[in-house]
Amino acid sequence: MLGKDYLYHVDNNIIRVQNVSKQYDGQEVFGVRNISFDIQQGQIVAIIGESGSGKSTLLKSIYGLLTIDEGSVLFKGKRVLGPEEQLIPGHKEMKMVTQDFSLNIYAKVYDNIASALSNTDVKSKHEKTVQMMQHLHIEHLSAKKITQLSGGEQQRVAIAKALVTDTKMLLLDEPFSQVDALLKNQLRADIKRIASETGVTVIMVSHDPADGLFLADNLLLIKDGQLLQQGEPAHIYNHPEHVYTAQILGNAVVLNKEQAEILGLHVEGAQAVFYPEWVDLKGSWNSRRFEVKDVYYKGFYEELLLERNGVSIRAIQLNRGEHKKNDHVQANIGRFLSF
Ligand code: ADP
Ligand code: MG
Repeated sequence: MLGKDYLYHVDNNIIRVQNVSKQYDGQEVFGVRNISFDIQQGQIVAIIGESGSGKSTLLKSIYGLLTIDEGSVLFKGKRVLGPEEQLIPGHKEMKMVTQDFSLNIYAKVYDNIASALSNTDVKSKHEKTVQMMQHLHIEHLSAKKITQLSGGEQQRVAIAKALVTDTKMLLLDEPFSQVDALLKNQLRADIKRIASETGVTVIMVSHDPADGLFLADNLLLIKDGQLLQQGEPAHIYNHPEHVYTAQILGNAVVLNKEQAEILGLHVEGAQAVFYPEWVDLKGSWNSRRFEVKDVYYKGFYEELLLERNGVSIRAIQLNRGEHKKNDHVQANIGRFLSF
């Protein structure tokens, strides 16, 4: 049984990144440092990290656009060649969509997508182009020029162009940075649907965890070129291995030991960490009195800035307007992590 599972696991690996390091010429810090992970076929993978953390370097290394210093990237078990090892840099079965989309802005949507296909079979070229436009819900834009499209529409065209050539792996570098909040939701849902319909494996990188957290099957968090944690988004969120992870993913409250003790939290390490939604705003035997210092409007909820004996925390308030500035509330930190 164990052996069979193991084989299944190996067969399903589309990408294996092994101890990859890249240091750019003349730079003291690493672009990426000793990164290893596997990606299963058909997964949506999100790589989250601050600007400059090495996300683009990692994507380019996977795609074969960068000469890496150490380690290797395997695509279906075969090493991905670097730019100096082949005529056209990049892997045939992968496509990368960057923020600038690289479309021919004066050409029509249809022609942009069709141009990725060869002319050997004109009928199939037409069929594939139309089918891909349907997948991405852009048939109605077929005759429009790229200059006439919104940022979100352009992005769909770029993704359609990337996928039309039987692409097995789609690499998206900051895919949502150009689009507004409403469209983001739709594009996220689109990517999920397209991945499940076509079986394409997707890696997307973003500095905004909201882009990846709830979409991805697999989340990788990187900082200063190093992989901090990898796993299912909900697991990483609830069980962060580093304080930084909780801060970047959920804007966690971080207290030092002394502050934690003032609030009655007994930490084993040096810090107590919790998300604002882990704070219960209700009176119970172990709740304490806090003063509401400020209320931040967040749409369908509010975030309260609370203070007790000089220690500030934040809590989520779903019933808007229930507690106002200068009120006193009972709050209990229902769960916290010790670091
Ligand atoms: P991200 O995509 O997460 O913003 P990058 O992968 O672009 O990060 O960059 C990681 C690090 O490598 C940064 O410190 C950046 O300044 C550096 N870097 C990126 N590209 C180059 C380059 N072509 N030459 C020198 N340094 C670079
Ligand atoms: Mg980048």
